[in-house]
Amino acid sequence: MNFDQLTGRTRTHLTWSDKLEIFIHPPVENDLVGLKNKAWENGFDLQVASGFRDFQRQKLIWNEKAQGKRPVLGRGSSVGFDLAKKILTWSALPGASRHHWGTDFDLYCLNSLPLDYKLKLTPEEFGPGGVLSSFGKWLQENLKDFDFFCPYQEDKGGVLPEPWHLAHGPSSVKFMESYTLPIFEKNLQESDLELSEHLLKNGPKLYKNYFKNISLNPWNLNSIS
Ligand SMILES: [Zn+2]
Repeated sequence: MNFDQLTGRTRTHLTWSDKLEIFIHPPVENDLVGLKNKAWENGFDLQVASGFRDFQRQKLIWNEKAQGKRPVLGRGSSVGFDLAKKILTWSALPGASRHHWGTDFDLYCLNSLPLDYKLKLTPEEFGPGGVLSSFGKWLQENLKDFDFFCPYQEDKGGVLPEPWHLAHGPSSVKFMESYTLPIFEKNLQESDLELSEHLLKNGPKLYKNYFKNISLNPWNLNSIS
């Protein structure tokens, strides 16, 4: 994996999937199709809300949140480095999003939603009594059969839990292994982001807490530090 692939600046690691109608990292396609088919057999119309997202798209989201043009959820105050950390609990740093790889997806179930429902992807939707609660439960029970896991399963003090976000284990781990601290810092230096003066001073801390800090999984047992 090269720098541009790891940081979402190219699509050379992706292919268009006619079956899924998304760009995807090729080794992932069969497993995601398998998961979707199994879901259908079990009564769930599994859909991808968000798959590959490029650097520019993530940068736009980041800068709008930093400038107060988009709401910022999460804990902490809203100035300087605290604002950066607050954004990071919900939105990845541009160039360091798992969505750059074509191995990670935000999923939902179309036929669980009322007509004209606007999907938000929130803990409430997937929690007890939420519209996607039974789909979320099904997902957790079936993801392993297709080599997926949930990298944000529980609150580990970095990214808040995202039960809708699935990662393909064998593929995403290869991207993670290639994504070293020097790559993380080079990305920060070349990104020209809002709040970059705070980000550049805190590279190692951000790398550890918001990038490497994912849930335990069978493919990456020692990623937790
Ligand atoms: Zn996601």
